[in-house]
Amino acid sequence: MNLSKTDYILYRECPKNAWMKIHRPDVYYASELSEFEKHIIETGNEVELVARQLFPSGVLIEGRDEKARLETLDLIAKKDQTIFQPIFVKDGFLAAVDVLKYDPENDGFQIYEIKASNEVDEKVHLYDLAFQVALLRKCGIKVTGINLLHLNKEYVRDGELDIIKLFSIDDVREAIEDMLSVVSDEMDIALAYLSAEKEPNGHCCCVYKGRSSHCSTFKHSNPHVPEYSVHDLNRIGSSKKKLMELIDSNVFHIHEADGRIVFSESQQNQIDAHVYDRVLIKKDMIAEEFSKLEYPLYFLDYETFPSAVPLFDGYSSYNQIPFQYSLHVLETPESELKSYEFLHMGSDDPCPALVESLQSHIGLKGSVIVWYKPFEKSRNTEMGIRLPGCKEFFESVNGRVFDLMEIFSKQYYVHKDFKGSSSIKKVLPVLVPELSYKELLIKEGGSASQAWKKLVDGKYSKEEAVEIANALKVYCNLDTYAMYMIFKRLNDIL
Ligand code: SF4
Repeated sequence: MNLSKTDYILYRECPKNAWMKIHRPDVYYASELSEFEKHIIETGNEVELVARQLFPSGVLIEGRDEKARLETLDLIAKKDQTIFQPIFVKDGFLAAVDVLKYDPENDGFQIYEIKASNEVDEKVHLYDLAFQVALLRKCGIKVTGINLLHLNKEYVRDGELDIIKLFSIDDVREAIEDMLSVVSDEMDIALAYLSAEKEPNGHCCCVYKGRSSHCSTFKHSNPHVPEYSVHDLNRIGSSKKKLMELIDSNVFHIHEADGRIVFSESQQNQIDAHVYDRVLIKKDMIAEEFSKLEYPLYFLDYETFPSAVPLFDGYSSYNQIPFQYSLHVLETPESELKSYEFLHMGSDDPCPALVESLQSHIGLKGSVIVWYKPFEKSRNTEMGIRLPGCKEFFESVNGRVFDLMEIFSKQYYVHKDFKGSSSIKKVLPVLVPELSYKELLIKEGGSASQAWKKLVDGKYSKEEAVEIANALKVYCNLDTYAMYMIFKRLNDIL
């Protein structure tokens, strides 16, 4: 086998997971990539394409096969070309370099690794580069420069995209040279480990981590751990000692955990709800929270797109672009519920039109109800900065925000089916079982975000575009209608 730099990095994160990827792809790839994972891959490709503009004469090597390797050797021998994705293979290692540029002053080559992130992640990016340098040196290439090319978070777009300002180039040669011998040794160890045909022995150390840390092969390696286990207890991943105590006592089922150790309030509530099928409702606390509300009530939700490459003036890398909102308005407790929506269909900045529409529906009085206020409040603040004429409006809105999620995160209502979460996707089926996201074409924010970008980039046929625009509206509308219905159900039991 040839160990790629991607698998070496995966090995550094978890040797067993890397082994599973290579030898048991049926298990490793059993679950489909999430929208978030797909977005990360697409973003990486997009940023790489943009970064290549910094090297206008670069030549791309396509493929990873022997032909590509020979083409690489050919171009390197010419010593006059910048090469994108040259392929190197030697002693069981393989890597494609993002950019290899001839350095005539030192008669060597400079490596540039392109990362679609705002920051350098030393645990990943430097090891990724060190792997490449070690391999290039094995191949007899004189490496005279080692650089990380990543997005510059300070850059704010103003007019035409400034490619030079969009990126930061960090010279990391010294750091890489310092770690090279350690990395070379580790590469040999990784190659030996990953070449073994037999599945590695030993337990999966993730049994000591919360559910969100488990990889796609966790179930295969830990068949004794139930689907819903102590790993799903609220924030148990941050209470390492507690989880270790449970696991070392062979406690995996939530009902076995009761009374074993001292849990946090939310963890104990989750256990009680599960074990005794008990619904905890603190009516007095909910009533107190609701007494803060002022009519009209505005149930508001944004959908956003975080673009790595700033698309419009005033945006930096990964700033969220609000492109859609849904708003349900209840003027008085007795009024009929009104619904408003906005979906930007143009390829220009959605903000001015979105804000104009929002201002025509949200008045100067009344509570603005959202689910997880840090998100909506941050978008409001950012829009106020980008459109200074609307700053006061958004300050007023933010001053009136009421986070309905807090009823659940503050433990005023706990149900076993929430499974320790206060996500609207968990709360809705319990409080309003007749409403569901399950049958929708777009079911969650990540898909909405991707769908909108494809829509405005003209990636859909006419018919598909109509269907997707409608699906976006239905999805966002459900978010705010769900909030209204949850609010109503809670009100009804007070
Ligand atoms: S579950 Fe954790 S320890 Fe097990 S293979 Fe996956 S990442 Fe590695």
